[in-house]
Amino acid sequence: MEIKDKKKCTAIVLSAGQGKRMGASVQKQYIELNGKPIIYYPLKAFQDSEIIDDIVLVVGKEQEAYVRREIVEKYQLTKVRIIVPGGKERYDSVWQGLKALRTETKDGSEPPENREYVFIHDGARPFVDEKILQRGYEMVEKYRACAAGMPSKDTVKLVDEENFAEHTPDRKYVWTVQTPQIFDKSLVTEAYSRLMRAEYKNVTDDAMVVEKILDMPVKLFEGSYENIKITTPEDLDIANIFLTRRNKGYCSYRT
Ligand code: C5P
Repeated sequence: MEIKDKKKCTAIVLSAGQGKRMGASVQKQYIELNGKPIIYYPLKAFQDSEIIDDIVLVVGKEQEAYVRREIVEKYQLTKVRIIVPGGKERYDSVWQGLKALRTETKDGSEPPENREYVFIHDGARPFVDEKILQRGYEMVEKYRACAAGMPSKDTVKLVDEENFAEHTPDRKYVWTVQTPQIFDKSLVTEAYSRLMRAEYKNVTDDAMVVEKILDMPVKLFEGSYENIKITTPEDLDIANIFLTRRNKGYCSYRT
């Protein structure tokens, strides 16, 4: 896809989580899928992408040298420009990535021709692909803030403290949210810098930060049902199936 006047796009790839729900001794992003660590796959998708210009990789404390040697250099992921240690919560890690990128811009008043975009992505989602990145680029150009997701296949219930169903939202309005979540760099940097000064955080994704702190709408766009986050052991089995299918050249369900 030829994009006229393409803005600079940086991916912040988060790989600093503990992965406790996996119950493995190795952090989940280093568990191997078909002989390569999980984190290799999203990095490779960004490396090969026409949309992404460079990558900031956020890793666990004191893992920078290991990741540089065993992943970035080993697989020649030359777009990885910066490797920084993350923080305690996901949002701390995002902030470390944004700070590493932060330069001149301070507010959301950037003229369109100077805009840069940031693609924030969970390193535990190996199946991000070029089509998702292209759809995301189109959406961020239009809306300045967007997130990949998919309509929920299941009915969703909101429950009380004792797990009694309190509310059943109409399924046609329920999406499960994925990454990449893509923003104007200046806008997301402003939202996160305010979040970091706030007392109450409790955020689990980036869209929430922009919605809550800047009171800005975030557009959801179609990711894919394959763009799963590897969280618990059964996700690894599913990922292996997706990978086998991909290696055999079957096309993705979402084309
Ligand atoms: O914990 P969760 O599964 O939501 O994490 C999503 C992504 O965020 C993972 O790729 C994980 O490595 C990353 N993360 C991080 N720093 C944290 C927590 C999670 O980079 N403190």
